Amino acid sequence: MIEDATRLEVENLHSWYDESHILHGATMKVSKGEIVTLLGRNGAGKTTMMRTLAGVVRQRKGKLVFDGHDLMSTPAHRVARLGLGYVPEERGIFSSLNVAENLVLPPVVKAGGMSIEHIYELFPNLKGRDSTVGTRLSGGEQQMLAIARILRTGADFILLDEPTEGLAPVIVEDIARVLGELKNLGLTIILVEQNIQFATASADRHYVMEQGRIVDEFSNEALLSDMARINAYLGV
Ligand code: ATP
Repeated sequence: MIEDATRLEVENLHSWYDESHILHGATMKVSKGEIVTLLGRNGAGKTTMMRTLAGVVRQRKGKLVFDGHDLMSTPAHRVARLGLGYVPEERGIFSSLNVAENLVLPPVVKAGGMSIEHIYELFPNLKGRDSTVGTRLSGGEQQMLAIARILRTGADFILLDEPTEGLAPVIVEDIARVLGELKNLGLTIILVEQNIQFATASADRHYVMEQGRIVDEFSNEALLSDMARINAYLGV
């Protein structure tokens, strides 16, 4: 029997902020070990998709199954305990605490959280910044710390919202390295990304969002061999 590698199944997903209907029946699937991006213009609903998956947006309907659990009836803190970790665009680190403190205070612990030693191996820059408070870190270090904190929780499926935003190219490359290492460890990642070069360097597959729906899907090879098709969606 072939093992079903599907970890996340999203079908006809709708969600709302009060009266504003934002997701309009989005459908996608993510398998174990994949890195999948959500691409699309500003306002397409990418961040809302992440927040709806993570259970932060509670006004929603449709099918949402993660590792066999029905997420529709699962509160956000339980979602994290299932191993689904969310790194929001604003990063969610404690800016008044230093690096070491941020790392010993993970929000939720699931068995299998990454050890501090392993964290420092993956993020050597953080080791040297142990006693630096969050506000004093560079944007890249803050992003690394935000990812590290989620790994400490034991998350093995990570929702990453625009991790490269505002970062210098050399730091973007370093984040691509980290994602590659996480993939090698068997983690699964959904990435919201505007930087197409980073997206194609990191991901296996890409979904395109428009007006709260998934309107297209590319393998990484297909995207690389037909950039005009994605550029048309993005209005580049
Ligand atoms: P961006 O790259 O600009 O963040 P996005 O694709 O991530 O775009 P979302 O941030 O999900 O898009 O926004 C989708 C729509 O939802 C937009 O029309 C936005 O104005 C609206 N929206 C976002 N947050 C809220 C909110 N808290 N309340 C009401 N509407 C919101």
